[in-house]
Amino acid sequence: MKREKSEALFEKAKKYFPGGVNSPVRAFRSVGGTPLFIQKGKGSHIWDADGNEFIDYCGSWGPLILGHANDKVNDAIKKTVENGCTFGAPTALENELAELILNNNKYIQKIRFVSSGTEAVMSAIRLARGYTQRNKILKFEGCYHGHSDSLLVKAGSGLVTFGNTSSAGVPESFVNETIVVSLNNEDAVKQAFAEFKDQIACVIIEPIPANNGLLLQRKEYLQFLRNICTENKTLLFFDEVINGFRIGFEGAAGYYGIQPDIITYGKIIGGGLPVGMYGASAEIMAHISPEGNVYQAGTLSGNPVAMAAGIAQLTECLKPNFYTELERKTKFLIDSIYQTSKIQNSKFKIFSVGSIFWIAFTDAEFVRSAEEIDADSMKYFRILHKELLDRGIYLGPSGYEVGFVCEAHTEADLIRTAIAFGEALEIVMK
Ligand SMILES: *Cc1c(COP(=O)(O)O)cnc(C)c1O
Repeated sequence: MKREKSEALFEKAKKYFPGGVNSPVRAFRSVGGTPLFIQKGKGSHIWDADGNEFIDYCGSWGPLILGHANDKVNDAIKKTVENGCTFGAPTALENELAELILNNNKYIQKIRFVSSGTEAVMSAIRLARGYTQRNKILKFEGCYHGHSDSLLVKAGSGLVTFGNTSSAGVPESFVNETIVVSLNNEDAVKQAFAEFKDQIACVIIEPIPANNGLLLQRKEYLQFLRNICTENKTLLFFDEVINGFRIGFEGAAGYYGIQPDIITYGKIIGGGLPVGMYGASAEIMAHISPEGNVYQAGTLSGNPVAMAAGIAQLTECLKPNFYTELERKTKFLIDSIYQTSKIQNSKFKIFSVGSIFWIAFTDAEFVRSAEEIDADSMKYFRILHKELLDRGIYLGPSGYEVGFVCEAHTEADLIRTAIAFGEALEIVMK
């Protein structure tokens, strides 16, 4: 497989961008080698600058639930762009996307559109603080909520810790307002509430943590969080940027039947264009400017072209059986991989929910917290990733990342993928 053009483009890119990329995971640092420069995509396939073709399971890290260059999404974009890209004034398209979401989601009443997942979470944290008039937030180790300052923290060594910054440039004083605890640990949360009584504005969680492995939580645990938040007048914040519209139209709230106080969406909501959103009850949302005193704004918020792409994509997601079919395909892929790889070694696992899957090399039956992930096992993923690339299968370039099955994946794609896995795993296990 030729990589010359990608290599040349990467050399050039390194002159312009730190590490040659505009977002760090693209740099292939954790799997080694040169990132592929992608030229085009159609359906479930992508082509790189050297003309190599791949079956794609990265899906731009989640947004492309219909696959690449979906005709309906593209038509909507083209039609809308004819009338101009942005006005800085309201358009009917914002109402249309909001209606589509709110008419099919009983967990939120009012929303605000923004332009990324990071922005959605950052703004909603401000809302939680403004609404509760409390400063501290509680987050879980292994949950990613974008790169805003107070959320770029990792756990210290105790049961309940203030975060340590996981990035230079984030003042200690900022992260002192962020409490970090382990996932799947009730005692840690209870201790945090005891220690910081009446100070915690919100508990923020990825209800389906999918940015550091797929750390599926027990429903009882999420219900426990709901209860302890209610008892303490703390807001429960579901960051559903990655799983929203992915495992069902009502995301994790609908999947578990748990009512959070604030929800954020991103990724799929924009049909491949930059859209994020936060939503809550009308009463909580009334605190947002211009109705309330929590300020938040955006020049390109509710951008008409992005709204049109979102409308087109979410309309497809609402088709009958859309999600059951995606889940069926994902199960078929996983079963086929287990079959073709004839794995005797119980260490190879694929965890999944809906159309999200995660490849792990572990003996554990469940992995529910970040500490349970064995960093050393990533050496197997590195080999697997390379061998799969060589066989025309594109996974996100990190063993901590999940993969996605999209509507465009065909049975032939899935079978081809399973065969490639069988061959690649044989090499990994050597
Ligand atoms: C991707 C993601 C974000 C950040 O979204 P961006 O659009 O990359 O800023 C935040 N939270 C979760 C759960 C995500 O998966």
